[in-house]
Amino acid sequence: MKRFTITQFRAMYPNDDACLHKLFQLRFTGLICPKCESDKQFTRVKDRRAYNCPNCGFQIYPTKDTVFEKTTTPLTYWFYAIYLQTTTRNGVAAKELERQLNICYKTALRMAHQIKILMADKHIGKLTGKVQIDESYFGQKLANMHRKKRAEMYADGLNKHDNKTGVMGFLSDDNKLRFEVMRDTKTFKQRVRKHVSKDAIIVTDSHLGYKGLDITYVKHEVLNHFENEFKRGEYTTNGIENAWSNLKRTIKGTHIHVSVEHLQKYVDEVAFRMMNRDKQDVMFETILQNVG
Ligand SMILES: [Zn+2]
Repeated sequence: MKRFTITQFRAMYPNDDACLHKLFQLRFTGLICPKCESDKQFTRVKDRRAYNCPNCGFQIYPTKDTVFEKTTTPLTYWFYAIYLQTTTRNGVAAKELERQLNICYKTALRMAHQIKILMADKHIGKLTGKVQIDESYFGQKLANMHRKKRAEMYADGLNKHDNKTGVMGFLSDDNKLRFEVMRDTKTFKQRVRKHVSKDAIIVTDSHLGYKGLDITYVKHEVLNHFENEFKRGEYTTNGIENAWSNLKRTIKGTHIHVSVEHLQKYVDEVAFRMMNRDKQDVMFETILQNVG
């Protein structure tokens, strides 16, 4: 497997100027000046995080509307923190960022949190082709939970019957993966329509919540999981089953407890890592593309 090594990383991003230029390229390549419509290449403004139009002087700030905008933390720190997230299977904790960058824990925690958000892939769009859909349940037994916490969970509309939080999973043939934590009262069908394009063929188990989707979709294949049917001809839910076991393993292996309110962010990151598992060489670039 091709790797993006630390040596390559350091050579590409030795200082804040190089990082800023990368952001400029990512966000404003081929820019036509919004003020004078000149297509001349913008140039760097000295001592500011800005580029300007050589014709009229209009300024562009590459960090504007990104996580880097309102931070005094050097861009090199951010880039390195993102790079670190691509080097291990389950990512790097805030404690490790604190140590490696020699920054305070609060800053490290904030960075780790913001980078997680960047790892929620915004560019996926609705899934097409053959799409496997399934639901799974996570979390602790309510019996072990404090009464107040339990009341909060009920208020959130979580599943009251088995005391766990439901997650719906979507996986397409071209390996696009989405998880949605079911924290509100939307129906299964509404969730499917939100994430899956109408021209798709959908494959689900026989849960009644999926019944009727054949009206919306080209085809709806129903596998009977109760009779151990996970594959019929070219239709299978084995891919999404694998994703569940991956997700469960990750939750067990890395976090002692993922609280309900952070679960969506967490599963987004896990999905991102699963989709980019064999793409470490481009993962850094992929994360950066989500900055703005
Ligand atoms: Zn201009």
